[in-house]
Amino acid sequence: MAEEGVAGKALGAKVHHLAQELFPQMVAWRRAIHRRPGLGFAVEETAELGAQVLQNLGWEVRRGVGGTGVKAVWPQGARRGPAVLLRADMDGLPLMEDTGLPYASEIPGRMHACGHDMHVACVLGAASILTQVAQEMQTPVVVALQPAEEGPGGAEPMIRDGLLEDPPVGMAFMLHVDGSLVAGQVGIPQGYAAANCDDFTLVVRGRTAHGSRPDRGVDAICAAGQVLVALQSVVARQISPLSPAVVSVGTIRGGDRGNVVADRVEMTGTLRSLDDEVRRELVRRVEAVARAAAQTMGAEIDFQLEPGYPAFTCHPTARQALQAGVEQALGPGVAIPLAESTLGAEDFAYIARAVPAAVGVLGVADRQPGDRGSMHSRTFRPEERALTVGAATLAMAAVQAGGYLREAGEGH
Ligand SMILES: [Zn+2]
Repeated sequence: MAEEGVAGKALGAKVHHLAQELFPQMVAWRRAIHRRPGLGFAVEETAELGAQVLQNLGWEVRRGVGGTGVKAVWPQGARRGPAVLLRADMDGLPLMEDTGLPYASEIPGRMHACGHDMHVACVLGAASILTQVAQEMQTPVVVALQPAEEGPGGAEPMIRDGLLEDPPVGMAFMLHVDGSLVAGQVGIPQGYAAANCDDFTLVVRGRTAHGSRPDRGVDAICAAGQVLVALQSVVARQISPLSPAVVSVGTIRGGDRGNVVADRVEMTGTLRSLDDEVRRELVRRVEAVARAAAQTMGAEIDFQLEPGYPAFTCHPTARQALQAGVEQALGPGVAIPLAESTLGAEDFAYIARAVPAAVGVLGVADRQPGDRGSMHSRTFRPEERALTVGAATLAMAAVQAGGYLREAGEGH
């Protein structure tokens, strides 16, 4: 085992060196992608850039997977697993970029504000590194460039289109940038890596009347106020305090004039939880509490749920491979255990619920947490030094995972 450790260290140093060599190339890929953000499934330009890079590296590339996704297999023709999967999401956000960067988005109203341009560049970098340390990789590797992470979800369609088969995937990894860690750090989630996330629309229906005679109508605004206050009691009084849950109402709209009783108010919100049972309970209770609160005022509600992505945790073995990969490629102190679970959403969940998987949180602040803006904001400017860290992390995690999978297979 000691020997393996030394070999791992030497290989880690080589992987890090290759990642450093690739830095200018990764910056070029990332900026090209950054200039031309796609939304949802409309990510053809990014998909084509990635597909061509992988083809030039000698990978077997399939385009149009699950819509506009790219699946690449290496070595070509590998159909026997288990394989290691590296996944990057490709889509941007409907925001007007306000960074002032020379390579800012050229498409008004679209921006890579969640760092998915960084993710693609890191995965392409890792793919390039793996082809250069081919003899060290004990299993095939699959790369997934996935559309529509920000919605409506591209991972599930890619899985239905064979992402995890031919060759069968045995372990999967992804990175997500985070401005609350600095470039050079990789956070490793110990708890939940993403939460159950369901959105809802709640319409409160009343009956209009003149504002001088509210008794002749049913005031939807007043009823909505009761609903809003009552909803606060769901998490506080009806869900176990040992299991995190969130009910947030983000928009509320209703009424036409100051002197008219409103007959309709529409609210939209989001429900977050970690436990699957709490998820079901939250949906049931939010609807019941809202209905009852509205009825005390004589109003009715329509409740519409838009189910979102499920929660997931990192698999212990995959997390171990990721951690060992980070340490071997980048040294001690780079991997930061993240004790706190997140209540964010991530559709890698569908992959992580199908095969052992782990997530690395790639620090992209410069000197201090938050100094490059926050994700989903118009001023988010991830530090590009992180590209080297990300590519080395993914490549070395893949090598480690390949070793584990091979060992497990031989144990049978
Ligand atoms: Zn994202």
